[in-house]
Amino acid sequence: MKCPFCGHTDTQVIDSRVSEPGASIRRRRRCVSCTKRFTTYETVELRLPQVVKTNGTRSDFDVMRVRNGFQRALHKRPVPTEFVDQAVDRIVARVLALGEREIPSREVGEMVMQELYLLDKVAYIRYASIYRQFEEPDELLREIKKLEKPHDTLTIRLPGV
Ligand SMILES: [Zn+2]
Repeated sequence: MKCPFCGHTDTQVIDSRVSEPGASIRRRRRCVSCTKRFTTYETVELRLPQVVKTNGTRSDFDVMRVRNGFQRALHKRPVPTEFVDQAVDRIVARVLALGEREIPSREVGEMVMQELYLLDKVAYIRYASIYRQFEEPDELLREIKKLEKPHDTLTIRLPGV
């Protein structure tokens, strides 16, 4: 942070505090060279990226769409809503942490799959069979075999079969 008085590039932070939760951070600074004091306000830009589909179309990152994906996959599965909320929150946090302006839709899908894998194996397979772009049906079978012990009977419709 450059000193606004003498242009010196080295300033000390004397004090920092958050003015409003998550809104901005107020920092009291002192110039190392001229010792004058000034205040800066820092805001973090938290903007969700655009989601880019494989066909190149872009749309706003839609948290509700992610949540709906979970709900469809978890239909009639014994998973508490609280766990779903936490999984959705983790995905949003991960997407924000990327700091990118665009994210491929496939990447979002992979994050959902990772969370579903931990939440419920049946829901994971459901989601995978619907949303993942399987090159060949064998790929889905390999996914199923990766799961050690599916505890319920699975009804799977192979894409394109
Ligand atoms: Zn200065």
